[in-house]
Amino acid sequence: MRIVVDPGHGGYDPGACNTTVGVEEKAVNLSIATALHRSLLWAGHASLMTRDGDRYVTLSDRVALAKAHRADAFISIHCNAAVNRQACGTEVWTDVGDTPADPLATEIGEAMQAALLWSPLRRDDRDADLDKEGRFYVLRMTRCPAVLVECGFISHDVEARRLAEMATVNATAGAISLGICRWAERLGKNT
Ligand SMILES: [Zn+2]
Repeated sequence: MRIVVDPGHGGYDPGACNTTVGVEEKAVNLSIATALHRSLLWAGHASLMTRDGDRYVTLSDRVALAKAHRADAFISIHCNAAVNRQACGTEVWTDVGDTPADPLATEIGEAMQAALLWSPLRRDDRDADLDKEGRFYVLRMTRCPAVLVECGFISHDVEARRLAEMATVNATAGAISLGICRWAERLGKNT
């Protein structure tokens, strides 16, 4: 399948920052996205990244790349932040309502829940699936199934430190990759 992996933020836009532990979201996003990209290539998918370095890319350029790549799926990688510094865990987001991204989000969320035992999946089961719904630009404007993954809270000191470690980066990327591969398998498109 043709997949676009989108590391959120970059360049002068650091995303969420934790000055206590010295971790910036843009760097964590890029590490996880790079590991995910490699894993998808290894599995035989045609993966492309919206940025592969520390540079700013506009949201419309990210969406345009998905269109140009004729992507079957768009996966945006982010980390969370909250005023409540005890908030922790992962989240999987889709556009609002019933969308073609829902089965993809479910596979990714279930794979993350099974693999990332140190970080709970913050599910929203009110509408019978685990994803959360929001009107993020990249989810709204992308034509293919699009999912935004929040890989943990930068504002939580322990979680921020953990997200800066390669073991967490690889485990997170591996779980997301597994979810995407399972979704692709169900569609009968292994590669
Ligand atoms: Zn972000």
